[in-house]
Amino acid sequence: MKVLIYGAGQLARMMYLVGVPLGIEVNAVDVATEEVVNPVSKTPVGLSLIEAIASADAISVEFEHVPEQLLAQAQASGKLMPDMNTILTGADRVREKRVLDKLGIANCAHHIVDDVAQLDAALEALGDKLIIKASRDGYDGYGQWRLTAATELPELKKQLAELDLKKVPLVVEQMVQFDRELSILGTRNKQGDIRFYPLAQNLHHQGQLHVSVAPAPMVDKALEQQARAIFKTLAEGLDYIGVLAVELFQVNDRLLVNEIAPRVHNSGHWSMQGADCCQFENHLRAVLGLPLGDTSVLAHSAMINVIGTDELAQGLMAIPGCHMHLYGKSVRAKRKMGHINLVAESFQLLGAKMEELAWHLPMAFFPKLSSEAERLKQES
Ligand code: AMP
Repeated sequence: MKVLIYGAGQLARMMYLVGVPLGIEVNAVDVATEEVVNPVSKTPVGLSLIEAIASADAISVEFEHVPEQLLAQAQASGKLMPDMNTILTGADRVREKRVLDKLGIANCAHHIVDDVAQLDAALEALGDKLIIKASRDGYDGYGQWRLTAATELPELKKQLAELDLKKVPLVVEQMVQFDRELSILGTRNKQGDIRFYPLAQNLHHQGQLHVSVAPAPMVDKALEQQARAIFKTLAEGLDYIGVLAVELFQVNDRLLVNEIAPRVHNSGHWSMQGADCCQFENHLRAVLGLPLGDTSVLAHSAMINVIGTDELAQGLMAIPGCHMHLYGKSVRAKRKMGHINLVAESFQLLGAKMEELAWHLPMAFFPKLSSEAERLKQES
């Protein structure tokens, strides 16, 4: 069986690697050159895009910012999963908010703004603590502005007046005082079967994910059920096929959706060692119409992103339950170079292993690790 993935980064690479033992061939499309490449070596596989589309059993994406004409071409084959509309929803915060509101899913109070003059009304309605997001082409905290007092508005208006807001409107959101950030991932196949991974707790720094812990600590049945209900409403509402990630804010016992990612997701990388069937395999299974894999948790897991450095001491490989996943990239500031999965039998042991791991890493690049290790060691 063959799967074609748009995007030739680490997510396509990890799908390729889990596909090998299953006899599934994964090829990737470099969306800049439209070349069909091997997701590990990045070298052309000798197929034109049209040939690769024709020979694929299923087509999917590793990121949502795929040029629209390429998505339309893939959609026309009838093999694109999730479908083009859903992928475009993930790439456009205005479409995303419309879907959430239409499906009655709680999210952050917001205004859509396509003229700076509308910012006054947004401020009036939402208060003066705002986060302003470009609706397209912004990710990991890029294309975002924060307003912390009404007095900052004139200066912000000046900056935003430079943008073409008719083309790329802004989503102006109330700044939420959340208790923590969580995500739920799951997979749905053509037959409509759904399997959920447990809620993961996510720690961000400067807009980038640094650490995920799964299952998230301090989650009662009601919270897990609430997350699953959100996932199910979205997945069924979109007639979704594949792995879907939903990023959430927890405010007291309530969950608000921050954003959705129509693909495998960084906050699900822990599942490679921490779950019976990982998200990458489950995505391939879903789009190929195969039985879904068991999402049962095997251990308490932490996923630590390696960002902007490749200085990892080899000693970390001696820590039991420590698994390194490097993506074979050259170093650049803020670039995701790989991740480290840690598994343990309890939160306390996980915290202790994270503390041990910290000895082997240049800590300036891992600002969330030590505090999270300390917190997990205190979990009961
Ligand atoms: P996003 O690109 O929407 O995922 O935002 C990046 C990060 O900014 C999130 O992970 C949150 O930490 C923070 N953030 C985004 N939206 C809000 C909001 N409405 N209120 C508070 N923090 C937010």
